[in-house]
Amino acid sequence: MKITLTTTKKEKPDFSKLGFGKYFTDHMLVMDYENGEWGEAEIIPYDSFKMAPSTAVLHYAQGIFEGCKAYKDKKGKITTFRTIDNFLRMNKSATRMCMPNLPVAIVLEALYELLNIDSDWIPTEPGTSLYIRPTMIASDSALGVHASHSYKFFIILSPVGAYYANGLKPTKIYIEDNFVRAAIGGTGEAKCMGNYAASLLAAEEAQKRGYDQVLWLDAAEKKYVEEVGAMNMFFVIDGVVVTPMLTGSILPGITRDSILKILKKYGYKAEERKISVDELYSAFKGGKLEEAFGAGTAAVVSPVGLISYKGEDMVINNGVMGKTAEFLYDKLTGIQCGRYEDEFGWINRLN
Ligand SMILES: *Cc1c(COP(=O)(O)O)cnc(C)c1O
Repeated sequence: MKITLTTTKKEKPDFSKLGFGKYFTDHMLVMDYENGEWGEAEIIPYDSFKMAPSTAVLHYAQGIFEGCKAYKDKKGKITTFRTIDNFLRMNKSATRMCMPNLPVAIVLEALYELLNIDSDWIPTEPGTSLYIRPTMIASDSALGVHASHSYKFFIILSPVGAYYANGLKPTKIYIEDNFVRAAIGGTGEAKCMGNYAASLLAAEEAQKRGYDQVLWLDAAEKKYVEEVGAMNMFFVIDGVVVTPMLTGSILPGITRDSILKILKKYGYKAEERKISVDELYSAFKGGKLEEAFGAGTAAVVSPVGLISYKGEDMVINNGVMGKTAEFLYDKLTGIQCGRYEDEFGWINRLN
């Protein structure tokens, strides 16, 4: 691996006021794919790319990304959480988008090296972490609509605080019954760029109406709840934790999977199945919709205090964070930051 260190280190931001994805570290990782193979991974100073206006990804969105996090534990050791699962998922996204798979072992090694080099960018304040953004783009410079022959893979790092400005304050979500995010057979399962572009208008309109997020329904019947912008959804109905099953149009979240494993280990009743809006509404009417929360790397666990459907507002748990969400937030962040023992083998210590 080639490493070129920066000669001008950037000034660090105030780690107590990070927000999400606004600051980037001194270095980045780049690796190019040409003539059927990946070149050497390189660590270079964080900088702009120079690319032709005809670059394929700029036109046809053949691009995928991932999101994972690094932390420092109490002893100052760098830890990462389930990173290998992110690269395995990235390869699934790559296959779906007709892009080459990554050499996972090499990429992981290179990422660890990058984290070591930029380790003084890993914040340690509660709720903060170093967000890792691996990305792959089609880099051919040609306008024909076909899979690119060349690709650029890169990883950038961003010290982050809470994903939502309000932190753990429950959010208000709007069940979208007009626009859809993903259909079976489409690209909902892949972390591909176009999915997010297609979701922005609905999110903006929901925000104008006073909601924070959109809860998507299945595209075929608009009957079953799927997920929120960048989070999988969980509900507690009559003491049972339920989450929509992976049908092909839902992103298979690593946080979702971690939560299901924690729930199982700690004796909660948890189910993966289809959940209709009607079921949610009648549970709400019957006083049995006890909690709702989203789960994803960026936000970890994000409580939902209100769900709106066709003009009807369902206020959940009096608009405050519920016990299950609190338990899961504490457990997950505890494992990630080393406050709790890693009973699941999810943590990798670098130094
Ligand atoms: C990334 C993402 C999630 C969460 O996945 P994690 O692996 O838990 O971060 C959920 N839904 C969508 C649409 C996403 O893009």
